[in-house]
Amino acid sequence: MLIPCLACETRFRPDEYFRACHDYNRGMDLVAWTCPRCGNRDDLRVLPGELGFGYPRRGRFAVDDRIRVPGLRRQRGDLRLDITLDTKVWRVHSRLRHLAAVG
Ligand SMILES: [Zn+2]
Repeated sequence: MLIPCLACETRFRPDEYFRACHDYNRGMDLVAWTCPRCGNRDDLRVLPGELGFGYPRRGRFAVDDRIRVPGLRRQRGDLRLDITLDTKVWRVHSRLRHLAAVG
């Protein structure tokens, strides 16, 4: 099972791919991913059995493209997302954000 970068189409083993995840956004339920090869940054949603790619739309994230990753599981923690595949776990921490002033 190899997972492609949607920008440069390099394919990564799951360990290489998920180690490049960073900054879990709990509000939007997204992790940021930076391609180790081309440096492209993408936001993606980890879903059971697949990865979801898309765009923010009206304050929400709409998934347009999915890549199937059989056996992929996820568990949300307080300030992190744990991604599990087979016997491996990758832990993506939230970056603490300053509250933006509203209005
Ligand atoms: Zn790339």
